[in-house]
Amino acid sequence: MCGIVAYVGNRQATPLLLEGLKRLEYRGYDSAGLAVMTPDGLKIARSVGRVSVLETMVENMDAADGTLGLAHTRWATHGAPTEYNAHPHTGMTRSGHRVAVVHNGTIENYATLKKYLTEKGQVFDSETDTEVLAKLICELYQGDLEKAVQAALREVNGTYGIAAICENEPHTLVCARKGAPLIIGVADKSYVVASDAAAIISHTSQVISLDDHQVAKLCAGPEDRLGDGGPWSVQFKTTTIDNIPVTQEVTRLDFELEQIELSGFKHFMHKEIFEQPDALRNCLRGRLDHRDCRVVLGGLSRYSRELVRAKRFILTAQGTAYHAGLIGEYLLEDLAKIPARCEYASEFRYRNPIIEPDTVAIAISQSGETADPLAALREARDRGALAIGAVNAVGSTIARETDAGVYLHVGPEIGVASTKAFLGQVTVLTLITLYIGKRRFLSDEVVRTYLRELERLPNYAERVLEQFDSIGKATERCVDRDNWLFLGRGYNYPTALEGALKLKEISYIHAEGMPAAEMKHGPIALIDKGMPVVFVAPQGSQYDKVMINIEEIRARGGRVLAVATEGDQAISNYADEVFYIPSVPEPLQPILSVIPLQILAYHAALLRGHDVDKPRNLAKSVTVE
Ligand code: GLU
Repeated sequence: MCGIVAYVGNRQATPLLLEGLKRLEYRGYDSAGLAVMTPDGLKIARSVGRVSVLETMVENMDAADGTLGLAHTRWATHGAPTEYNAHPHTGMTRSGHRVAVVHNGTIENYATLKKYLTEKGQVFDSETDTEVLAKLICELYQGDLEKAVQAALREVNGTYGIAAICENEPHTLVCARKGAPLIIGVADKSYVVASDAAAIISHTSQVISLDDHQVAKLCAGPEDRLGDGGPWSVQFKTTTIDNIPVTQEVTRLDFELEQIELSGFKHFMHKEIFEQPDALRNCLRGRLDHRDCRVVLGGLSRYSRELVRAKRFILTAQGTAYHAGLIGEYLLEDLAKIPARCEYASEFRYRNPIIEPDTVAIAISQSGETADPLAALREARDRGALAIGAVNAVGSTIARETDAGVYLHVGPEIGVASTKAFLGQVTVLTLITLYIGKRRFLSDEVVRTYLRELERLPNYAERVLEQFDSIGKATERCVDRDNWLFLGRGYNYPTALEGALKLKEISYIHAEGMPAAEMKHGPIALIDKGMPVVFVAPQGSQYDKVMINIEEIRARGGRVLAVATEGDQAISNYADEVFYIPSVPEPLQPILSVIPLQILAYHAALLRGHDVDKPRNLAKSVTVE
């Protein structure tokens, strides 16, 4: 959600900042802006809409030359997405120097601070909470930007990733974070700060990750700081907001530039759908030990006894990850025989939950930065639960704050509509289930079957992808309909929810997912001639019941699309369109049965003329509540 890029070094900042913003576009935003420190002071450009609009604006701006700058893509929380609310926001110090600030997150006590600053004579140009922070930094500025930022952040409640520059210190960039991601790339003679590694990787893979409440002061300039010629020096220091020095190590980013480029695909979602077989291979690599008939999860080994002894599992997540969590709930109860509940993290964290002894909480998040699961995990841990993370982004906040965890290892996911991360999440939850189940009730024979079937999934996923074009044709036949239902039972009920979410988030078609049996309790009133109803109906324990539900829809004129098991000819007598998946044990079906639904949503969005990778109003990782 939203993005920050900032630069201090020996190169022109403007092109670098624009390139960085483009790499962050996938995260979702509504306006953009940048500020560059020029010999004549700060130059600022802001615009509503895409980064390309800002780029044109900057091209027409004279003399935006400078080697220090910051930029932002905003996802509005306080004030409409207008030019005057776009970042950077500025203020004026008492010494008459302008300060520019970009900010991700929300300042909860901004109204109180705004009142205080207004009484001090500050005049505000925007409705944002960020401008309050910019003016507060100016108010507290006494010749040292780092100290002013620290002092301001001590007054602030809320979340922030920020970068700030001041005309009085033309070679200094100050940044800080709390509850919003911020990474510092350490390159030759320069620093690139960003809220996401995607904006850093083309410059360097050496990074420093800030922790909450930490501030970094980054300087780059001629040694004598007088401007011309002298040797170039760079230095950084990290402190807490209370000005206590902290040591931060430089680490290596674990992905390559090509992983975040389109590489010939039309969209990131398109690419990521097709990456799923490899994503599964990477997720499973080294984790299936056929010889000893067990699952190897190094990240859990220190806590294996607590996991086996656990009396209850709580899974918390939002969006697609929540659907993965629901499947996890079925898996843990069905195979590991442990009571499990999946809850929306946003509800769990505020409902004063009861955490019994021997509870394990699992937070599921692609980015590892999602605000609600992070807070839910903290809440559960504070109340005594063992905290486990199932995240994709290595080194992310959730990954760092848990007692133990399992990475998805599916590679960076850029498409806003999650695809391969969902497969990774369900796979990881299956692995965790088998890891525990094997130590509790599961026989070697059963575990061996699952290991073998898991191993086959990547090839099976390839087979499902062969239907990419035919699913497109089927989609074309009903894409004009504005209301869809997605139905499934058992393990395939969460898959139905996920199918509906995919469709609505990128095609803007209204879709609802629900347990197939629930349809009769109300939603069946919606069915009219031609209404598309998607059944997730691979063969399994509830197949016959789903067939009855299909009949009920057909009897009312609905158009039935079904995901079915290969070889199931009978279903084609009942369904108008059938998409096939290979036969696998029921608990593994969601990993395959979701793929046709992702493809369907992708085609529906294209057919309706929408930008698949930048769906309106959506952000990739929701780092605000
Ligand atoms: N709360 C800030 C605003 O509305 C920052 C939003 C963001 O994270 O982009 O401007």
